[in-house]
Amino acid sequence: MTAVNDHINYRTNNPAFGYIPPAPELPGALCAEVDSELFFPHPHATTQQEEAKSVCRGCPARTPCLSWSLAQHEALPYGIHGVWGGMTEDDRHKLLRTHRRQH
Ligand code: SF4
Repeated sequence: MTAVNDHINYRTNNPAFGYIPPAPELPGALCAEVDSELFFPHPHATTQQEEAKSVCRGCPARTPCLSWSLAQHEALPYGIHGVWGGMTEDDRHKLLRTHRRQH
């Protein structure tokens, strides 16, 4: 297991962040280089949200990370917490709601 995935596992296993299913391998994940708590902002902490999103924008693992997070978000009754793939929990709710309306 790489250090990157140790970091992702910390994010998915830490009870302080609520239940989050184990993430897939995300090679090159840039969030491994910053404090995990940055990715779990309070819903109104817009500056922190934007800071986390800006890390995701340059991340080579963004596409698989976003796909995984959207799938988990849809599968779980209350979604998953945190910024994943450049989207907050609220962003995922909105995107999935729009997608359901269109299909
Ligand atoms: S897209 Fe963001 S949350 Fe996902 S692995 Fe990259 S930095 Fe981490």
